[in-house]
Amino acid sequence: MAAKDQVVPYGKQSISEDDIAAVVEVLRSPLITQGPVTEAFENAFAELCGAKHAVACANGTAALHLAMMAARIGQGDRVVTTPNTFLASANSAAYVGATPDFADIDEVTYCLCPDSLEDNWKPDTKAVVAVDFAGQPAEMPRIAEVAHSKGAVVIEDACHAVGGRFEWQGEEFRVGGHPWADMTTFSFHPVKTLTAGEGGMVVTDSDEYAERVRMLRSHGMVRDPRQFTHFNTHGFPVNEPHAWHLYEMQDLGYNFRMSDIHAALGLSQLGRLPEFIKRRQEIVSRYNSELNGIDNLILPDLGEWLRDGSHRLSWHLYAVQFDFEKMGTSRAEVLKGLKERWAIACQSHYLPVHLQPWYVNQFGYGKGKCPNGERFGAQCISLPLYTSMSDDDVSRVIEGVSSLFN
Ligand SMILES: *Cc1c(COP(=O)(O)O)cnc(C)c1O
Repeated sequence: MAAKDQVVPYGKQSISEDDIAAVVEVLRSPLITQGPVTEAFENAFAELCGAKHAVACANGTAALHLAMMAARIGQGDRVVTTPNTFLASANSAAYVGATPDFADIDEVTYCLCPDSLEDNWKPDTKAVVAVDFAGQPAEMPRIAEVAHSKGAVVIEDACHAVGGRFEWQGEEFRVGGHPWADMTTFSFHPVKTLTAGEGGMVVTDSDEYAERVRMLRSHGMVRDPRQFTHFNTHGFPVNEPHAWHLYEMQDLGYNFRMSDIHAALGLSQLGRLPEFIKRRQEIVSRYNSELNGIDNLILPDLGEWLRDGSHRLSWHLYAVQFDFEKMGTSRAEVLKGLKERWAIACQSHYLPVHLQPWYVNQFGYGKGKCPNGERFGAQCISLPLYTSMSDDDVSRVIEGVSSLFN
């Protein structure tokens, strides 16, 4: 067993010598910001998803923000997401002046519940952000059915689910490449399954959305003289051979670009993704079988709609629920015990976003709005899960967690 003075964290990156060499190669090249390596990363990522377009950007939050802008979500619009997510899934709606709102989670999958989405639908709801919590795809066919029937845009926040595949009604679908999301967003933060240091991606089959995301990630500028509108009418020599140095700003965008330094790491890691997913699946299988059957400990499970198929899910988190009340303890005690006695550092994903102070103050949201999300948020602990975790590390977590119930 690994020395207990080495803390097992809940997640961390895995960087190989080849990853490092790929970054160094860019550093020695003339172009280090967004350039050919970013484009190569985008092309490889689109292929991974089986999607027409992948547009790289600065981080997963920027990807969500750009998706909102591409879909022209703004003031007067409502955007519904899940309380069981990272802040950014909801904040992205607020960035564009829309009202972030929440429907409850499914009790089994901890993802957005399609029934709750439908029951809480309001006429001004213009977009839904469905999150693939822990790596399990949200129930996209039903979520899309509800949203699309009302004319709303579906954005899938797949920051936890890179490279995932699932079977539904006998057919295999890929995260980022199925027909139920209008845009799918990813993050390459170091705790995620695949890292670029920082980075994000918007994946879509829509030419229009892809073009808008490309323009908006770089100040709303277009550089192709054929796309120029205003200057054409003002006597500027846009159609002359030297027009290449001109640009036109057609919308208010941001600097949300990815650099080639980051893209080189992301592209190199993409080659290792099958190995990452396989190792995470092995660890999840051990947790599933060796922590099974403990009273007051609820393990993650697949939704009904996924139970019949065979899947290759890309697990980002292993989130269990403790019934602290029945155990006569608290989450703080459990986390402290695991840390001090077993050198295991766990986390909780997530405290319900609608109960964050800013959301309470700004929108008046409170307890009781999403009961399933609130119960889960009060009981969840994410056990360590990362590619470089050794079998001994996994054993230590299983032993440490089991000891809490003896
Ligand atoms: C990590 C994460 C984000 C934000 O990604 P960043 O790259 O950190 O900006 C958004 N949504 C979910 C579900 C995430 O896990």
